[in-house]
Amino acid sequence: MDPHFDWIAVGSGASGLANALWAAHRGLKAIVIEKAPVVGGATAYSYGGLWAPNNMLQRAARINDSDEQGLEYLRFLSGGFAEEEKMRMYVKEAAATIEAFAQLGVPFRMIEGLPDHYFPGAPGSLALGRTLEVVPLPKRALPDSAPALLESPYMPGGVSWSDAIKWGGLGNRYSWAPENLEHAASVYAAGQGLVAWLLLKCIEKGVTLLTQSPATRLVLEDGRIAGVEVREGDRAQQIKGDCGIFLGTGGYECNPEFVRAYQSFPNSAPHHPPTQTGDGLVMAGELGAFIRNIPTSLSSMVGYWIPRPGSEPEFHSAGIQELAYPHSIVVNSEGKRFGNEAFFQEFVVKLREFDVVKKHRYANIPFFLLFDSRFRERYPFANIPPERPLPAWIKRAESLAGLAQELGIDAQQLQQTVAKFNDNASAGLDPEFGRGQSLWIRKVGDSKHPINPNLGPLSKAPFYGVELTPTESSSAGLYTDIHGRVMHLRGHAIANLYAGGTVRVRTEYGAGYQAGLTLLGGMTFGRIAVEHALLGNKKPS
Ligand SMILES: Cc1cc2nc3c(=O)[nH]c(=O)nc-3n(C[C@H](O)[C@H](O)[C@H](O)COP(=O)(O)OP(=O)(O)OC[C@H]3O[C@@H](n4cnc5c(N)ncnc54)[C@H](O)[C@@H]3O)c2cc1C
Repeated sequence: MDPHFDWIAVGSGASGLANALWAAHRGLKAIVIEKAPVVGGATAYSYGGLWAPNNMLQRAARINDSDEQGLEYLRFLSGGFAEEEKMRMYVKEAAATIEAFAQLGVPFRMIEGLPDHYFPGAPGSLALGRTLEVVPLPKRALPDSAPALLESPYMPGGVSWSDAIKWGGLGNRYSWAPENLEHAASVYAAGQGLVAWLLLKCIEKGVTLLTQSPATRLVLEDGRIAGVEVREGDRAQQIKGDCGIFLGTGGYECNPEFVRAYQSFPNSAPHHPPTQTGDGLVMAGELGAFIRNIPTSLSSMVGYWIPRPGSEPEFHSAGIQELAYPHSIVVNSEGKRFGNEAFFQEFVVKLREFDVVKKHRYANIPFFLLFDSRFRERYPFANIPPERPLPAWIKRAESLAGLAQELGIDAQQLQQTVAKFNDNASAGLDPEFGRGQSLWIRKVGDSKHPINPNLGPLSKAPFYGVELTPTESSSAGLYTDIHGRVMHLRGHAIANLYAGGTVRVRTEYGAGYQAGLTLLGGMTFGRIAVEHALLGNKKPS
């Protein structure tokens, strides 16, 4: 392979692929360098939602929206941690990015009936039309020579967000109609679908794809980044990128040192692919890049560890899954509920509550997910279909008191908590924390469940339970300007170096989180980076 390119994108998630595709579209000779043997990164794990206020699909459906309204919502989300000019840039460019990639042949559609979430009542929010996804891509459309795609442990293969809603929610996945499953088996959808479309378009545009080749170092020449050093097996080689180098290497969730340095939970577990080790931060950091943190990040969930005999345990995120299904509850070791289980952003803030005087540690950790037999009759747990026997690592007892003893929970208090919870849950109510009140979470619970899709009593023995662990998305990242240029600690841009996606600190939305911001943000800043580089370069468009 000739190692001279105009443009290098490091990472094959949404940001890297979109960036390379856009570079190729603008006439640049582009390469994507990927560390893993498969493409897709956390994007392939994701639900694939893309958030674009005032977009072309809304206009086509005559849904009123405006940049100002989108901006108002972003300001609410930011909690004061975002920068006005970046929020403006996002609002202006996100819809333009959807339009631009649609013109390149990537088809998008609205996720029907999905309001802005997670804050449908916030100023500037809209009930419909801003969250988009790609139309699923038939598997046969990808050439045989294409690299394999990473599979998601969270989204059943070939199932889009729209389909999951239409078919009764993820909780009902084991009763979906056979014809639906047959269709799903033949397509790429959700986050994996987005990867598939971008990959297909990259291939069509002649982008070179190099997998199993971690970038290890940025090459600095004459005061600008001229390329990257890449390891292929035992061999190291330099690849040059004349017009620009774009880092789309994702977060650092699987780097325990970085997690300890930047995140709020010392025992935070990763729900991301193992290649998310913060390589972009290391490569740019050693050249003086400014790594910034958003100290109050709500982009966190909870889950549990699944032991795997003979190998490392696997982490399973339960946020928009088990915690959103009826007949489950979360309590701390005192046997008390402390938040709305089905709304992870609110829940995670409660987890950060520090008991200064009595315990001098987080008040609500350890914490536990408990469920009853009615849950098991209907819903999967740890991806084990309903009704199947559960393995021994999931604690089980014939009574709540017995389960409390197994897990180290205050038994008397737990019984009182569940009795109170059940009284209201039977009527679909949760006066304490409002579980199942939000329209978006009702869509991902069990829509066939009577009264409240996210709530039901724990009354049928045996009872089950596991300890939960927080899982956070990276809150720190490379600080960039509005063009996606990576900034040096001394306040100037590092010449020829750009970043997008989760390797970049999210100063366009700050503390809060709205599904669709990270994926479309990565694509948007990936496109902006190429446009900025072209302005200052001699290459043709
Ligand atoms: C279950 C789940 C659901 C989600 N749902 C949504 C959603 O609906 N909408 C949304 O906006 N966000 C969602 N997210 C978040 C979203 O997936 C991420 O924010 C997004 O994928 C980040 O994209 P990226 O391109 O920055 O990084 P990634 O997609 O993680 O890609 C980074 C790539 O870089 C590669 N890499 C790392 N280091 C190197 C190196 N040294 N050399 C070469 N390659 C390297 C990695 O292997 C990886 O392939 C979800 C996340 C999860 C886990």
